Amino acid sequence: MSNPQLRLPDYVDLRLLGRCNLECPFCFGPRHEVPSMSERTAMRVVATVREAGVRGVVISGGEPTLLPYLPRLVEALSRPLPSGEPGPKVVLSTNGLAPLRSMERILPHLAWIALPIESADDEEHRALRIGKAPHRDRVLRLLHEVRKNHARVRVKLGTVVTRRNVDGAPGVLDLIEDERSLPDVWKIYQMSETNYGEDNKELLSISDTAFEQVVERCEKAAANRGVRLRVYRNAGRSGSYLFIDPDCQVVVVQGGRERRVGNLFELDTDIELAVDSARNVGNFVGTYPDA
Ligand code: SF4
Repeated sequence: MSNPQLRLPDYVDLRLLGRCNLECPFCFGPRHEVPSMSERTAMRVVATVREAGVRGVVISGGEPTLLPYLPRLVEALSRPLPSGEPGPKVVLSTNGLAPLRSMERILPHLAWIALPIESADDEEHRALRIGKAPHRDRVLRLLHEVRKNHARVRVKLGTVVTRRNVDGAPGVLDLIEDERSLPDVWKIYQMSETNYGEDNKELLSISDTAFEQVVERCEKAAANRGVRLRVYRNAGRSGSYLFIDPDCQVVVVQGGRERRVGNLFELDTDIELAVDSARNVGNFVGTYPDA
């Protein structure tokens, strides 16, 4: 049964599927084999978050562009509310492999697109974005396309820093020669020991000290190109997010670990969701300013 009285935080993350066409060893999304959310259920989720007054939704997975219904979902999610107020801002977090022609149906409904590049060094990048090659070239092509033909959509470039890409991560912006194609925000993520990231932590985890050294170099690189840098640290994860998983379970982060609190449509309206409003807003607005 749906629960229109449910109070949700201002910003939520919708993880519609675990399936992906890459196998990144640091992946902290749902396991690839979990069943994807059906279109019918996804549309119920859309109605629920709109009724709850959610202001922004990050759509991720898995790889959301693998879902045939994604264009219909982003249109329904982002359309104006019955009151005439604007609908939630939609951010699509994608690995960038979808063909341009399918992105054309999605981009008009987005406020932001989030794209990943892990390293200026091709070998480092390939070790972390395992699967279809050449992934990095495809991302750069999509980035140029968005900048050229979809100027209304803002771009966040994300770089996950692990032990394998400390050398090449700070050089990521060097891959973009044309100033007009630079992202609005470049976000550096400390690798999270969650899901596949936990499986591969011996190989990939990076200490706080080593991460801060990379951050320092990224700050200089971003300042040189006039790009706004944002930094995700594992220490700041708790209380900032509310995820809705492919099976409609609501997931929050407490003590640095994900905790499933119940099905979105069956949650008690009085449940304490362990999401700190200021952290939730600060995280989204800090990453996607002016959204
Ligand atoms: S990190 Fe993203 S692109 Fe990589 S396997 Fe996970 S969902 Fe796919």
